[in-house]
Amino acid sequence: ERAAAASAPVTPGALADGTPVPLLANLGSPEGAAEAVELGAEGVGLFRTEFLFLSAETAPDVAAQRHAYQQMLEAFPGQKVVIRLLDAGADKPLPFLTDADEENPALGRRGLRALNAQPEILRGQLTALAEAAAATEADLWVMAPMVSTAEEAEAFTALAAEHGLRTAGVMVEVPSSALIADQLLTRTGFASIGTNDLTQYTMAADRLLGSVAELQDPWHPAVLRLIGEVGAAGARQDRPVGVCGEAAADPLLAVVLVGLGVQTLSMAPAAMADVRAELARHTAAAARAAAQAALAAAGAQDAREAARAALADGS
Ligand code: PEP
Ligand code: MG
Repeated sequence: ERAAAASAPVTPGALADGTPVPLLANLGSPEGAAEAVELGAEGVGLFRTEFLFLSAETAPDVAAQRHAYQQMLEAFPGQKVVIRLLDAGADKPLPFLTDADEENPALGRRGLRALNAQPEILRGQLTALAEAAAATEADLWVMAPMVSTAEEAEAFTALAAEHGLRTAGVMVEVPSSALIADQLLTRTGFASIGTNDLTQYTMAADRLLGSVAELQDPWHPAVLRLIGEVGAAGARQDRPVGVCGEAAADPLLAVVLVGLGVQTLSMAPAAMADVRAELARHTAAAARAAAQAALAAAGAQDAREAARAALADGS
């Protein structure tokens, strides 16, 4: 009986009132796909492609990339798989793509900026993705990292379409992008909020620096407000908005994110069971009330407590 329970299919993510909240996996290599499926991932919300090339001295060739992407897509037939283009720079340097001499690499030519500076690498990655998508049945969404302007979103979406990639979107991990979310979402297909970087840039606290770790807290109401802006823009523009930063893996914060208008949550597969269980305890109305309570708080710890209290009252 125990074995039967262990192999029973995991239920999809949903609130207590039945509102679906698809739970997607964050993955760094195709090897993690099988475990993600077993743990009930309803697709992939963030495939970090730079991890395939971290030790490479030269740009990866199209055939090698295509092979890796195809492996990933084949693990999720018929499901959504969001593959992020190379996010090089700062905490993820790639010798062939980023400049090691920048004084402030987190504020430098990283992410999409680095790809735009080397269009052959950008085009090569899009070509490999298009070829992999054509060979499989997954629903491929391509995503650009570190987008900070509407022009970048528009140009990336057009370039993806030129390569036959119809569903292109952008990460929102810079405050400028959150503040102009409407303008982004009229120019691209979807937004995925990267709370690790969004917190770093909103709080001006290096995500790798232990001495400012206390400020690196996505519960801070300043960060929550920006997330709320993106959620509201998604509703106005009728575009999907997800979260793929570590914040989605915190069960209580996951409920607040949904209350802020976030529609899908992507996380390390090991976190999915706890998040799924917490979401199932609360209605959409309660999630919205918890979000309002957290937004009104003065700081991160207050926000956590306010959300917990609101959910204890209204479930
Ligand atoms: C983020 O910044 O929240 C994110 C998901 O991207 P990464 O952690 O890879 O920078
Ligand atoms: Mg990031």
